[in-house]
Amino acid sequence: MKTKLFDLSGKVAIVTGGNGGIGLGMARGLADAGAAIAVVGRNEAKSVAAAAELERSGAKAISVVADVTDKAAVDAMAARVAGELGRIDILVNNAGISIRKPPHVLDLAEWNSVIQTNLTSAFLVSQAVYPAMKQAGGGKVINIGSMMSIFGASFASAYAASKGGIVQFTRACAVAWAPDNIQVNAVLPGWIDTDLTRGARAQIDGLHDKVLARTPAARWGVIDDFAGIAVFLSSPASDFTTGTAIPIDGGFSVMG
Ligand code: NDP
Repeated sequence: MKTKLFDLSGKVAIVTGGNGGIGLGMARGLADAGAAIAVVGRNEAKSVAAAAELERSGAKAISVVADVTDKAAVDAMAARVAGELGRIDILVNNAGISIRKPPHVLDLAEWNSVIQTNLTSAFLVSQAVYPAMKQAGGGKVINIGSMMSIFGASFASAYAASKGGIVQFTRACAVAWAPDNIQVNAVLPGWIDTDLTRGARAQIDGLHDKVLARTPAARWGVIDDFAGIAVFLSSPASDFTTGTAIPIDGGFSVMG
């Protein structure tokens, strides 16, 4: 039978931070393509609401409350998803935070919090799901980087370090897990309208207009801009695509 390139029927996806923002945009795409979704976040009400939205659209979805920086919580989350949904095929490591301060005033606790949430979490959750993917004969991991995986910014030392690290972690896992038929890729969002950037826009004078001026597409991204790349990187269409870092940025990263 011919492979349906973008069909995710029968697949199970975990989306960390899937209760809002870019994670929810990706979860919507995966659900539309037929996957069952586990929405993972700390905020229970938000996660339950996101899972309910996905169910209303016709998908199977559950919400799991877990802090992705906590290894015991992550391991319990992966066990619960495998138990309740039967398997794990797709992981989106999307949970993330930003603390906007110049490096000379960022304190150690803030540095650790950003690195643990944005980078260490990807290690913990990927490691937790690896046995299930290997057992299923393959899998797909999508790690969320940033323009700060490429560029620097005065207010983003820990954030940029975490997002640069995500790209290198992606490459290492892609090589390590290729023999298991697990493809690992990173997505680098440009400036997207979410709770995270609403904070930045309030804090950084002129940010809104600077982003518009620098983005060839001449708009901020929206969360549904991430549905297509999520489906591509989760489906048979990307079976020979691994270790990449793909900007989804309206051209921001190629603007001269
Ligand atoms: P949001 O603030 O809307 O979403 C962040 C998500 O992460 C929330 O769902 C939150 O859920 C979850 N999260 C945060 N900390 C934890 C934790 N310790 N454990 C579990 N879940 C956690 O932001 P975005 O949608 O904008 O960001 C999503 C990703 O995209 C992040 O990695 C961010 O760095 C990246 N990104 C965003 C860009 C943008 O322009 N918006 C640009 C480039 C990258 P809860 O609060 O329930 O825990």
